[in-house]
Amino acid sequence: MTAQLIDGVALSKQVRTEVAQRAAALTAKGVKPGLAVVLVGDNQASQVYVRNKVKACEDAGLHSVLEKYEATMSEADLLARVEALNNDPAIHGILVQLPLPKHIDDHKVIEAISPEKDVDGFHVASAGALMVGEKGFKACTPYGCMKMLESIGMKDLKGKHAVVIGRSNIVGKPMAMMLLQANATVTVCHSGTADLGAMTRQADVVVAAVGKRNVLTADMVKPGAVVIDVGMNRNDEGKLCGDVDFDGVKEVAGWITPVPGGVGPMTITMLLVNTLESAERAAS
Ligand code: NAP
Repeated sequence: MTAQLIDGVALSKQVRTEVAQRAAALTAKGVKPGLAVVLVGDNQASQVYVRNKVKACEDAGLHSVLEKYEATMSEADLLARVEALNNDPAIHGILVQLPLPKHIDDHKVIEAISPEKDVDGFHVASAGALMVGEKGFKACTPYGCMKMLESIGMKDLKGKHAVVIGRSNIVGKPMAMMLLQANATVTVCHSGTADLGAMTRQADVVVAAVGKRNVLTADMVKPGAVVIDVGMNRNDEGKLCGDVDFDGVKEVAGWITPVPGGVGPMTITMLLVNTLESAERAAS
């Protein structure tokens, strides 16, 4: 069996076209959706991420502001910038790129962002809203994974068993909550799970969000299962790869996401969706 590909690039294109249309309609009413991206320091990977986010905004017709600061910026100064953006009516979403320099408390900065502008969905209020099923911004990566499932007709997961590998606050935990909300029966695995394969072999949907190559191999997958690979790693040749042994697993799974070209583009896309929805809420 050869799995069908869930193409994150193609799906992103489709969703971003819809975002651009809705953004244009809102702009015509005098409210241009705006995202502020704040980068502190010169982390190479972060520089690429923020550039991609700003470019995606521009391509979709959103207003974007990139604020870059020296690594020596004080926590107090960063908190003051966040406060200013909270009060800026042209800005509907605020993203502070993590990781921050060590002398700055990530948590304190994220909590300083107004929940109304928390388009990354990392604020405790956003996590809490997801937990209790209230309206709030959903963390972009798991939100993108849900869109991918929806795209293959799996919006409602009633009767399905989903296994999430990883329990971070930004991917694993919100992923599990979103799957639960979609009526899946959810198992969350982590580094303390005794027999990962015994769990994943029961799964109709597996989401791998670990950050280690080959965490999921063909013998760990039920034939026909949907496999979503969130991981971002480098292989021996230095090429980007996921957590899943793609070549092996694609022979067993029913659907699989590639890396690159899978979850990555969807993450940025859902950031645009959240920013647009924030602006729509502000305008209503
Ligand atoms: P993280 O905070 O390091 O969390 C990794 C999780 O994996 C932890 O819960 C850890 O368990 C678990 N784990 C580690 N080794 C394991 C093993 N052998 N078996 C089962 N579970 C294991 O990472 P993250 O921020 O969630 O990111 C996960 C991966 O996704 C990374 O590769 C990251 O780069 C990627 N990512 C991609 C995107 C995207 O847009 N494509 C976005 C975000 C993240 P413990 O909790 O027990 O330590």
